[in-house]
Amino acid sequence: MSEPHAKEYLTQFADTNNRGNVIRDTRSVCPICMKDINAMIIEKEEKVYLTKKCRIHGVFEIIISNNAGDYRQLQDCYFYLNSDNFLQSEYYLNASTACNMACPLCYLCYCQKTEDLTVDKIKEVSSLKQIKRFTLSHGEPTTFVRLFEIISTLKSAKKLVNIHTNGIKIAEWDYARKLKDCGIDHVSIQFDGFDDQINKVLRGQEVKKDKLKAIENLKALAVPVTLNATIARGVNEDQVGKIFDYSISNKNIKDISFITYSEYAPTKENMDKYIMPDDLINIIDEYTQGAISRRDIILFQKIFYAYCSVIKKRKCFYYYHYMVVRTAQGYNAISEYINLEKFSSLLEKFKKRKRTLNLWSFLCMLSCCLNPKSFILAVRGLKEFFRGGFPRGPIKLLTLTFASICDPYKYDAAIAAHCGQGIITDKQIHESYGTYLMNQMKNSENRI
Ligand code: SF4
Ligand SMILES: [Zn+2]
Repeated sequence: MSEPHAKEYLTQFADTNNRGNVIRDTRSVCPICMKDINAMIIEKEEKVYLTKKCRIHGVFEIIISNNAGDYRQLQDCYFYLNSDNFLQSEYYLNASTACNMACPLCYLCYCQKTEDLTVDKIKEVSSLKQIKRFTLSHGEPTTFVRLFEIISTLKSAKKLVNIHTNGIKIAEWDYARKLKDCGIDHVSIQFDGFDDQINKVLRGQEVKKDKLKAIENLKALAVPVTLNATIARGVNEDQVGKIFDYSISNKNIKDISFITYSEYAPTKENMDKYIMPDDLINIIDEYTQGAISRRDIILFQKIFYAYCSVIKKRKCFYYYHYMVVRTAQGYNAISEYINLEKFSSLLEKFKKRKRTLNLWSFLCMLSCCLNPKSFILAVRGLKEFFRGGFPRGPIKLLTLTFASICDPYKYDAAIAAHCGQGIITDKQIHESYGTYLMNQMKNSENRI
């Protein structure tokens, strides 16, 4: 993060006629005192910044994209297709805030402790029809003694159930077996790379062996896995390609979420590790020598936004997705099956006519863009991806996600209002996980 350019910033605010570089106004928080403040998304020299000023703590500015053109076109598409009326259908379950690790990057020390969720509470929320998927997260779910009971209860209500875990317990075969037996659909494991030096920096200990063992156990049990890789600048950008290659050859890995490093402390001392999803996209483009190109990833978002719109699914703007199809030789990018440029231009025409997209028009547009040779594969694959479920056995498709999670520096309230995840605690149901996190930090004694 750059140091305050107070003069320049105040000039921008003072000159209300000169807002040509303002992409959007939003609200955010001061990363020091956590007060709600105004913020702007602005363009400067082809880059996009989130900029804001606290009266006491000055100006804060971070780069959120290196390509203003891409940012603007995606944002326009996002707000055209998104609506405030979409109900939240995916929730984290905050079963317990306990953990068996102490990662230096963890934000839980800035959140309030909550009471463990009771099975009665689980029964109550599992009867809510609008919720399709529960993820036990926000704390290490494997430390929770009632985990198996909770999963079984949710599965009896026919919900999709996932856990976000550090993977340590799952390295034990018997524990992994029990997870499978109680019906878990999917496991997301933190996996930041193949070098234990990285684990020491980000996780405080050498855990590579345990994580690889956990993935192996889940593979043997045919449980689909997501790798959640936190990428920090100067620490593990070089692992993006290695994690991708590993995932291509391990067919129980359903997706990789490359998640950018977030900063929750008010000290700014780790801001050199800051990186945005936009940077991660450039890394994969370079690593694959354009086989997974930045251009295609940007275009693919439009299909995804359109799909979310027609099924009324909430979606974060700072989550970019892409797909590859595993083949005998390696992989093919989804752009080989769908003409992404064509979909984008059809959608643009549709948008100009100011029409509302529905499922029928979406399917018509999509079918015009499928490569006939790969029609069956693409339809099967898209169904697999879009239904949001978890296929059993070897998986043909690998989904790549490049994402950032709200922190006090990059929190953008206009986007968090559409957050793709809510959270259920012992006390309440919160529709936006990002806003929940910020509210937790406002009340944190550890941040003062
Ligand atoms: S494993 Fe997760 S919950 Fe536990 S300390 Fe690390 S980041 Fe926090
Ligand atoms: Zn402040």
